[in-house]
Amino acid sequence: MSKGLLIVVSGPSGAGKGTVCSALLAKQADIQLSISATTREPRKIEKPGVNYHYFTKEEFRSQIDQDGFLEYAEVYGNYYGTPKKFVLDALKAGNDVLLEIDIQGALKVKEAYPDGVFIFILPPTLEELQKRITSRGTETEESLKKRLGAAVEEIEQAFKYEYCIVNDQVDEAVEELEAILKAERCLIKRNHEKIHNFREEEFYVEA
Ligand code: 5GP
Repeated sequence: MSKGLLIVVSGPSGAGKGTVCSALLAKQADIQLSISATTREPRKIEKPGVNYHYFTKEEFRSQIDQDGFLEYAEVYGNYYGTPKKFVLDALKAGNDVLLEIDIQGALKVKEAYPDGVFIFILPPTLEELQKRITSRGTETEESLKKRLGAAVEEIEQAFKYEYCIVNDQVDEAVEELEAILKAERCLIKRNHEKIHNFREEEFYVEA
């Protein structure tokens, strides 16, 4: 069993999962973020290798053929995939890895790695969700409609996760996320080795 935690965070577009994840990483620098590959165009503020690895459709297909993804999915007409080697190497080395991926991808990961920690980020209300997506100014009217329509269906999928966090105030959402991770790290199933070690220890009692 790998020692690092596989942390999977999803939620509808505009729930603020990116903000919550960035704030978590700023507080816990030892958690490694998995940088996904995508065929979508970079947004103005994005940087290759920081936000995503930007692939052509051919490059993406070639990675699929080489079994290079832990999971991949089509989201809003573009492909997104989690680099397999990066994630498995990091977990094997005992590092915690954070995946911020869509629901289809998260459920595929859950099937293969049920030991992961699956967290769903909810917006406080649907109205607030719409406000957040609009204020980002990155979507066309059509893609905004697509994302809002998808959000309602996506929220139903939260039942398949283990935890949900309502992202009203980012600080509070991050605190809840940290509390979840703290508890997960204390689970007996993740600490068998520590417990077994006591069997081997010798003790002396002074007479
Ligand atoms: P955006 O285009 O807004 O950056 O991301 C769109 C959606 O794709 C988000 O829900 C995001 O979490 C998801 N996403 C990003 N990377 C991956 C990935 O590697 N795999 C999957 N399945 N979804 C991803």
